Amino acid sequence: MREILRVQKLGKNFGGYHGETIDVHAVLREVETSAHHHGWTVEVFHEQAELKWFALHREPEVRSRESEVRIYISAGIHGDEPAGPLAALKLIGQDRWPEHAEIFLLPCLNPTGFALNRRENAEGRDLNRDYRQRRADEIRAHIAWLERQPRFDLYLCLHEDWESHGFYLYEQNPDNRPALAGKIITAAQSVCPVDLSEAIEGRPAQGGIIRPILNPAERPDWPEALYLISHKARQGYTLEAPSDFPLALRVNALVAAVNAALHP
Ligand SMILES: [Zn+2]
Repeated sequence: MREILRVQKLGKNFGGYHGETIDVHAVLREVETSAHHHGWTVEVFHEQAELKWFALHREPEVRSRESEVRIYISAGIHGDEPAGPLAALKLIGQDRWPEHAEIFLLPCLNPTGFALNRRENAEGRDLNRDYRQRRADEIRAHIAWLERQPRFDLYLCLHEDWESHGFYLYEQNPDNRPALAGKIITAAQSVCPVDLSEAIEGRPAQGGIIRPILNPAERPDWPEALYLISHKARQGYTLEAPSDFPLALRVNALVAAVNAALHP
């Protein structure tokens, strides 16, 4: 515990993310190699500027109608949030998936943004605000892919926030299913500090959990999570690692959070 409490913010990020960057071409090559090695089906649903948009899929190891769940995980929609794609790569390498789960993993939704270390894509568009208007080619390709998939029981979107004081998450659970937020926060807290602010990103928060009340019809600029809750799933979490901490810590926090949601 003392080790954890000693972790301090780096104080690097003023006006934006100024931390570690990744070689997105190298990370995507590793993702592809590791996914093949661990038996995933690898689909490329979009290509642009010599970069590939991967959708990885694995069937449950044990088929059973009662306990089967479909879980969707995405990362890397903001090109200045490297912990997401690295967490996806680590999860593939760990190969610890629930035996009754069918997994859909999109490890990097904005490769052109990562090539530039910026939030937006190469054309300067915030892709995580484009799921209603669908102006970006890669978002149209992503939605076309989503429309070919079955509904999911759970979605997890991996993000980072350079302004936050610790890990936090957004919970969408309109049907009041058994909530996973507490378990996810506890798992993340074993790795990195949690943001205990009473307001995060202008929304009320409690113990690192934001439960936004959203009316999708009133919002012109849908993030991915709003599309998912409207069309594909009835429960999901947007996970935010604090990017003013060392990269390895943020990757481990996201991996711990995903594992807590997968193995509650
Ligand atoms: Zn983000």
